[in-house]
Amino acid sequence: MRLVWFRNDLRCHGHTPLTQALAGGDAVTALHILCPDQWDAHGVAPARRWFVLHSLLELGESLAARGVDLHVLDGGDFDGSVTALEHFVAEQGVTEVFCNREYPLNELNRDRAVARRLEAQGVRIHGFDDGVLVPPRALHTGKGTPYTVFTAYKKRWDVWMDDLQPEAVPAPDWPGGQGRFVGRDRVERALETLSVPDSVTALWHPGEDAARGQLKDFVEQHLGDYKARRDFPAEPGTSGLSAALSAGTLAPLDAYLAARPALQDAKAREGAATWIGELAWRDFYRQIMHRFPSLATGAPFRPETALLQWSDNEEHFQAWCEGRTGYPLVDAAMRQLVQTGWMHNRLRMLTAMFLTKHLFIDWRKGERFFMAHLVDGDFAANNGGWQWSASTGTDAAPYFRVFSPVRQSHRFDPQGRFIARYVPELATADDKTIHEPWKQPLMTPDYPTTIVAHQGVKQRVESAFRAARDAW
Ligand code: FAD
Repeated sequence: MRLVWFRNDLRCHGHTPLTQALAGGDAVTALHILCPDQWDAHGVAPARRWFVLHSLLELGESLAARGVDLHVLDGGDFDGSVTALEHFVAEQGVTEVFCNREYPLNELNRDRAVARRLEAQGVRIHGFDDGVLVPPRALHTGKGTPYTVFTAYKKRWDVWMDDLQPEAVPAPDWPGGQGRFVGRDRVERALETLSVPDSVTALWHPGEDAARGQLKDFVEQHLGDYKARRDFPAEPGTSGLSAALSAGTLAPLDAYLAARPALQDAKAREGAATWIGELAWRDFYRQIMHRFPSLATGAPFRPETALLQWSDNEEHFQAWCEGRTGYPLVDAAMRQLVQTGWMHNRLRMLTAMFLTKHLFIDWRKGERFFMAHLVDGDFAANNGGWQWSASTGTDAAPYFRVFSPVRQSHRFDPQGRFIARYVPELATADDKTIHEPWKQPLMTPDYPTTIVAHQGVKQRVESAFRAARDAW
């Protein structure tokens, strides 16, 4: 008996383990192990749990309709999942396990434990890398070290992709007939324990059918303009596919293949190349997380930044969390996150920089808060984005670079349409006041005053980083 172990790859299309397992003509069964305690330990948002569990329901139905059984077990945490898998393998007489690799430290340790226990029983494990376009150990600098600068990594990444010219994973050779979905009730019970607001569930569409439809719409309607529109949060300029890529309802290869033909189209080329570049960023942060495992324990990439003396001002932190900083674009962004489970990339950079530079609060607090709300919460991308913004990471924004919340607001939300959507106190303000309400306090009485001045931030940050460097 062959087993396909589904983790964060909840789909039938573009799934090498499934295709390979079904290629041999042997009996195949599928498994997913719920790990709610691990989700708790990793601070995973209810929104993301909801997205994953609904995607799992769809996967179970799809597999069963094509003749493959899906079993869902509850492992508790990763340690429990190893034991649950071991028992399942023994009970079902599994001789080979097929799965996609995962790269953060806890996932690696889980998989090493699985390999030790199963291989001792003569069970073969076949690992694949469908979660990325380029596997995290594939590319090295001339010195044989991992890349830590994105531009250099991307050059090699492009060469790899050009040489490989990857094609879609062939569709599985389905057995046909009706399979079983064993443990569906476990998924339904797990869903019942969640409290996820309608403002989140109305917006996101779990499952691979939705992801594939969304990809098609994005490529047909927005890809060509991606470069020009992606920085404007009021516009539907980005794909909104991060939750699907993170839960694996969409394969990164399928995303890449959908965009690749546009590289030959003079009008769409720039947009497509820029979007594919974002998929490369996704790979980059995965290889960083894999090659520098201390990041998974909360360490900054730049060791000297461990000596920064962060502020413990809890009132400032709460104001940031609740979108009450007095800076309209920052507040609109934070309210978008809490209301919808998602935040636009430009605003993730802005709010993260605001927390770590203006308020000088530890990036790890912001990282956790994002994780607790994001429908697309993804450890490697979130950690990479936070460390970039806080200037503690690989290839990070230099510490002397501080986004001005007002300038960003004028530049990327010029008419204040995005702000008006999330900050009703400013919805009727004119398009100057909406960026700087403190200039017209009588017109915006319900909106909070700024909790910190922009002036002086750059100097404070510079001296804090210098002090950390000197103390190192
Ligand atoms: P698109 O612009 O359509 O991009 C396509 C895909 O490329 C995305 O779906 C995503 O998978 C990937 N991608 C895009 N930008 C990045 C990036 N900078 N780094 C890595 N991958 C990228 N992304 C997450 O998926 N999960 C997170 O938890 C996450 N946390 C972040 C935290 C901070 C502080 C920052 C600055 C960025 C974070 N990002 C995260 C990256 C990025 O903001 C989101 O991927 C993007 O906003 C998702 O929207 P989209 O799907 O419309 O992206």
